[in-house]
Amino acid sequence: MIQLKSPREIDVMAEGGRILAETVAMLAEAVKPGMTTADLDRLAEDFIRSHEGAVPAFKGLYDFPASVCTSINDEIVHGIPSRTRQLVEGDLVSIDVGVRYKGYYTDSATTVAVGEVDETSQRLLDVTQRALEAGIAAAQLGNHIGDIGAAVQGVVEEAGFSVVRDLVGHGIGVAFHEEPQVPNYGKPKRRERLTVGLTIAIEPMVNAGSAKTRTMPDRWTIKTIDGSRSAHFEHTVAITEHGPRVLTRRA
Ligand code: MG
Ligand code: MG
Repeated sequence: MIQLKSPREIDVMAEGGRILAETVAMLAEAVKPGMTTADLDRLAEDFIRSHEGAVPAFKGLYDFPASVCTSINDEIVHGIPSRTRQLVEGDLVSIDVGVRYKGYYTDSATTVAVGEVDETSQRLLDVTQRALEAGIAAAQLGNHIGDIGAAVQGVVEEAGFSVVRDLVGHGIGVAFHEEPQVPNYGKPKRRERLTVGLTIAIEPMVNAGSAKTRTMPDRWTIKTIDGSRSAHFEHTVAITEHGPRVLTRRA
C-alpha cells in the first residue's frame, strides 16, 4: 500500500532531509586518499547524532552494521565500512546514507572521485548525476513511475552506460522502504500514477559495463559482474502540486 504524506509530514521529512544533505556534503568533502571507509562511517554517525532528534537510519536496518554504505569502484551498493579498506587515489566511492528524524526517514547517496580519476570514471559520475536530475524532473503530478525510469534510462543509455535492474528506488517516509518500487528503467505512462503526497527515493545505479550484478559472500556488498565501475546518486523527493520537491538537497 502506498502511504501518501500530508504537507506537514513532508515538512518534517524536509527537516530530516536537510540534516542528511549536510551529512552527505560533509562526507563528500572529507573523502581523500588514505582514509578508510570506517572513517567515513564514524564521521557520518557523529555528525547525524549531533543534531537533536536525528539518528542514522541504516544502523541495524535489516541488521546492517554501520551508519553508511560505502561502495568502491566495481561495488555498486551496500558495501560495509571497514577499518582495513583504504581509499586510494583514482577510486570512485559511493556513499549512501539515511536519517531518521521525528519518526520519518530520508535517503540520499552520492559518488565521489578520490583525487584524480580517469576520464570514463568522471563521465560515469556526470552521467549518473544527470540521470538522477532527469528522473527528478519527470516526477511531476500526473506522470507515472514509468516516466521517471524512462527519463533515467534515456540519459544513461544515450551515454553508452547501463542501468542496474536488480536494484530499484522506493517509496520512503514512515518506513525506510515503502511502496511503490521506483525502477531506473521503464516506459512512460506505465506503473503507478504520481500523486500529491507521494514520497520516493530516486536512485540511479549506473555501470560503465554490464548491468548485471553479483552479491559478495558478506551477503551485503553488490558488485558489477564484469568488474566495471559503478556510480550511485540518490535523492528523496516529494510529489507536490507545484512539482517535485527534493527533500535532501543542500539549501
Ligand atoms: Mg540510499
Ligand atoms: Mg534508497
